This record gives sequence, C-alpha cells and structure tokens, in this order.
Amino acid sequence: MESLPRTYVPNTNALLLDGKRVAQLIRESLATRVAALHARGITPCLAVMLVGDDPASHTYVRTKAKACESVGIRSIVRHFPASVAQAELEAQLDAWNADPSVHGVLIQHPVPAPLDEPALLRRLDPRKDVDGITPYSLGALVAGEPAFGACTPLGIIRLLDAYGLPIEGKHAVVVGRSVILGKPMALMLLNRNATVTICHSRTRDLASLTRQADILVAAVGKPEFITGEMLKPSAIVIDAGYNRVEGRTGDVGDVAFDSAAQVASAITPVPGGVGPMTVAMLLHNTVEAAERYG
Ligand code: NAP
Repeated sequence: MESLPRTYVPNTNALLLDGKRVAQLIRESLATRVAALHARGITPCLAVMLVGDDPASHTYVRTKAKACESVGIRSIVRHFPASVAQAELEAQLDAWNADPSVHGVLIQHPVPAPLDEPALLRRLDPRKDVDGITPYSLGALVAGEPAFGACTPLGIIRLLDAYGLPIEGKHAVVVGRSVILGKPMALMLLNRNATVTICHSRTRDLASLTRQADILVAAVGKPEFITGEMLKPSAIVIDAGYNRVEGRTGDVGDVAFDSAAQVASAITPVPGGVGPMTVAMLLHNTVEAAERYG
C-alpha cells in the first residue's frame, strides 16, 4: 500500500487514522484483483438478505451494494417482509449456498423477531460467510484456523497495520463484548499477541481499566461514552461507535473526540474511521471467496 499522509488532529499530537483513505487504497487494490478474476471468467458476487423495514439496515445495504459495484463485484439484494416465514429464508440461503455464481452471502443484522437469526447464520456455508460472524467463523478465530474475519474488527486491525502501529505486546482494552464486534476484536488482538482486557456493562471501575490501555477500542453503542480522562496518555484510540443523537446531524461515535484527541497519540474520527474499513473488508472477503472457491 502506498505510504499514507500523516495528518494530525489540529492543536494536538494525535495522528488521525484516516479510515476513508485507507479503505480507498484497499478498494483500488481489490479492483485490480477483481479485474484478474473477470479475465478468468469469474465475476465475484455478494448476495444480501434483507428482512423487514429498518431504515438504517436499508441504508447500510444500499451502501454495501454501491461499494460492490465500485470495484466490479456483482451484488444481489433480496428484500423480504418482516412477515416472511423462516422456511422461506432458509430456502433462499440453501439456494445461495448451492449456487456457484454466488461467492459471499450477507444476512443483514438485525433480522426482526420472531425470526431466528442465529439459525440462519448456522445454515450459511462458512465458505460464503464473508461477514465472518457465523459460529463456524468465530470458532475458527478462537482456534486460530483460517476463516473470514468479522468485517469491523478485521477493518480495525488493517487500519492499525496501515499506519504501522504495533499490536504485539501492547495492552489492548476492548469496551464491548458483542458477537459481531467486541469478542472477535479481542480475539484478533490476542492472535496478534496483544494482552487483552474485555470490558462490558458489568465491569467495575471501567475507567481504571481503560486508563491502562495502550490500544483502546470503544464498541459500546453509547455516544461519547469514552472521554479523555478515561485514557492513558498516548493511547491509540479506535472508535467503532455509530450513534444517532437527536438534534445532531450525522453519526456520533462512542468516544468524545475532542477530549480524547488531547490525550491520544492516534485516533479514528467518526465518520471516516472504522465505518469505511468495515465496508472495505466486506469487499475484501468477497473477493477472497471468489479467488479461493470461484
Ligand atoms: P451491542 O451489541 O449493543 O454491544 C454493546 C456492548 O457494550 C455490550 O457488550 C455491552 O455490555 C457494552 N456496554 C454497554 N454499556 C456499557 C457500559 N456502561 N460500560 C461498559 N460496557 C458497556 O453493540 P455492537 O453491535 O457491538 O456495536 C457497538 C457500537 O459499534 C455501536 O455504536 C454500533 O453502531 C457500532 N458498530 C459499528 C460498525 C461499523 O461498521 N463501524 C459495525 C457494527 C457496530 P453487555 O454485553 O454487558 O451488555
């Protein structure tokens, strides 16, 4: 990857981790790999299952489909009403599992209750789990075996790597333990030889732990929850949060950016940090699936 311009947050010593720029570079290299696949007669294809009418989910799916198009990946979006039968969704997954022209399948979260999202994830062929969140893929991460990595934590690792920020031997503190983000994040950092602490809603004296972090990942889902006072001087701060706040335009992160940037040595913005990396990793995993199994 070409060397990245190093931009600092104005009036601070904090390096701005520009996920948008890194994601763009990744997309450019993916477009080259997709062209090579096209030359072999393979068009990488991502199939997306979207259930219900959650506006945020519709927006995310549109963004992902557009991103696919930008690098030459074909995308199929199948939208089902929330009243759909579980059996119909399962039949669709079976069809995609069996279709050699479909390389990746994404089940857009959340699938509305009473539909059984975990059962859908269990049904998906792990070779097509480009979102990296089926029990198989997560188990492979625990076992240190190859599988597709969950896109958001994988994107965070790639962002740290793009800036040459070492992980090995560092104390990484992950705030949040969700299946799609906090847990795989902790495992990926552990697999890269960080010493990892995982915090959650029952953690006592959270700030005493976050203040020990060389690398702090905020994956809480609470706007501006992590403040500068909760950080160790020169920490690397990764904000995975995306929160809607009434009266404010755009998304608000889980980190109070201005106070954190006064203390951090590097920090991701929201937007333009982790979000674009997540989408880039979805494209990356889809291209890999087409290269491996196409
Ligand atoms: P989630 O499933 O709601 O998980 C939130 C986690 O935060 C839980 O583990 C919860 O602990 C923990 N938590 C809640 N309150 C806490 C507190 N007071 N102290 C410490 N921990 C606390 O959320 P998620 O899906 O992981 O998402 C987290 C954030 O990342 C959200 O803002 C989401 O929008 C964003 N996100 C961004 C991307 C992206 O592409 N950038 C992708 C996915 C998610 P318990 O387990 O104890 O409840």
